[in-house]
Amino acid sequence: MSAIVAIVGRPNVGKSTFFNRLIQRREAIVDAASGVTRDRHYGKSDWNGKDFSLIDTGGYVVGSDDVFEKEIDKQVELAIEEADAIIFMVDVETGVTGMDEDVAKLLRRVDKPVLLAINKVDNAKRAADAVEFYALGLGEYYGISSINGSGTGELLDALVEVLPEKKADDSELPRFAVVGRPNAGKSSFINALLGQERYIVTDIAGTTRDSMDTKYNRFGFEFNLVDTAGIRRKAKVKEDLEFYSVMRSVRAIEHSDVCLILFDATRGFDGQVANIFWLAQRNNKGVVILVNKWDLVENKETNTLKQYTQDIKQSIEPFVDVPIIFISVLTKQRIYKALETAVEVYKNRSKKIKTRKLNDVMLPIIQHTPPPAYKDKYVKIKYVTQLPTPYPQFAFFCNLPQYVREPYKRFLENKLRENFDFSGVPVTVFMRKK
Ligand code: GDP
Ligand code: GDP
Repeated sequence: MSAIVAIVGRPNVGKSTFFNRLIQRREAIVDAASGVTRDRHYGKSDWNGKDFSLIDTGGYVVGSDDVFEKEIDKQVELAIEEADAIIFMVDVETGVTGMDEDVAKLLRRVDKPVLLAINKVDNAKRAADAVEFYALGLGEYYGISSINGSGTGELLDALVEVLPEKKADDSELPRFAVVGRPNAGKSSFINALLGQERYIVTDIAGTTRDSMDTKYNRFGFEFNLVDTAGIRRKAKVKEDLEFYSVMRSVRAIEHSDVCLILFDATRGFDGQVANIFWLAQRNNKGVVILVNKWDLVENKETNTLKQYTQDIKQSIEPFVDVPIIFISVLTKQRIYKALETAVEVYKNRSKKIKTRKLNDVMLPIIQHTPPPAYKDKYVKIKYVTQLPTPYPQFAFFCNLPQYVREPYKRFLENKLRENFDFSGVPVTVFMRKK
C-alpha cells in the first residue's frame, strides 16, 4: 500500500500541470503495456524510491470559480481526511487570493503534513514575489515551476520525507474492500454481513484513522473488511460528488487484497464504476463484481443475465476474467456466495506455481505457438518463472525480450489463465533477457 498525496488549490494555479509532470513518466509505461486509458486525476508516482498515489482534487470539480468556492471546503476536508499528505498549490502570478486564505485556514488546523507549493515561479523575479505567501501562516514554502520543473525536486524531497512509512500488514487475514458508487448498497451489504451491532461499533471506532479494518468471522469465513464509504459515511460531505467516491475508493482499494465492486443493477455499470474497476486493476488487486439490487430487475430470464454480463465484460476489456455475481442485499440472495468468491479470488491472487509445473505446461504451448518473428528476428523463450511478489507476475526468459509484442504477451497471459485459475486477479507478464 502506498501513501496518498492530495493536491488542493483553486482552479488555474497549475495543479494538473504539476500532476501530469509527476505521473507522466511512469504512466506512459503502464499505458503502453496495458493499452488502458488513465484517469487524468489519479496516478502513481515515486521519488527517491518511495511510491505514492497522487490525486489532483481539482480535477473533480467542474464549473467556474464560484462553483468551486462552494465546493472547496468539502474538497479540502476530504483531502484532509483521506490523504496522508497534502500539497497546497497557489499561484505567484495572481498572488494571495481570498480563496487561498480560506483554504489555508482549513489547512492550518490539520495535523497531517501540508506542503505549500507556490507555482509559476519561473524566474528569479517571481521567486522574490513568492515571499508574500508567508501571510498564509503555513510556514515554509516551495517555489516551483510546474512548466519548467524548477524547484519540484526540492518539493518532492520534502514530500517523501514526511510520508508515513509503509506499514506491514498487521494481519495475515485477507483484506476485502467493498467499493462502488454512492447508493449501490455497500453499507447495506456490510450490515447484512456484520449485523447492526458491528456496524455501530465500527462507526465509533472508525473515527480514528488506523482502525480501517473490521474483523469478520462467521460461517467459516475469516477476513478483514476494509472500512469504506459505506461504513463511516457521515452527512458531512455530500454523497453525490464523484470526487467523494473516488477518494474513498482509492484509500479502501489501496488497503485491500480483494475489492468487491458493487453496483446498482438498475443504474448499470457506468463510467464511474469502470473507473473504480481500473483503480483496483492498476493496483493489482483481486476483483469480484457484484450486480446488486437484482430483486428490482424484472424479466430475469437468462437473456438479461447474459446481457448484463456481456455489457460488463465489454467495459472491462481486456481484463475480463473476473467473477460477476448477481446479488440482492435486500433479500440476501447470494450474499454469501459473493463472499465465498472473494475468498477464492484471494487464493488465486496469492497462488504460487512451482517453476517445474509452470514450464511443463507453458513450454509446449510456446513451442506450438512461438512469438511471431518481428523485424526478421526470431524470439526463443527458454523458461518461465513466477516472481515472488504478493500478486501474480511471471517472467519469461528469452533471447530478444524487446521483440515480443503486446498481443503475444496477452496470449501468454490467457494461457496462464486457462491452465491455472487466476479468476479475478490481474496477471502481469514480463519478458526478460536470458
Ligand atoms: P489547474 O486548474 O490548477 O489544474 O491548473 P492547470 O494545470 O490547468 O494550469 C492553469 C494554467 O497555468 C495553464 O495555462 C498552465 O499552462 C499554466 N501553468 C501551469 N504551471 C505553470 C508554471 O509553472 N508557470 C507558468 N508560467 N504557467 C503555468
Ligand atoms: P451505499 O451508499 O452504497 O452504502 O448504499 P446503501 O447501502 O445506503 O443503499 C442505498 C439504498 O439502496 C438504500 O435505500 C438501500 O435500502 C437500497 N438497497 C441496497 N441493496 C438493495 C437491494 O439489494 N435491493 C433493493 N431493492 N434495494 C437495495
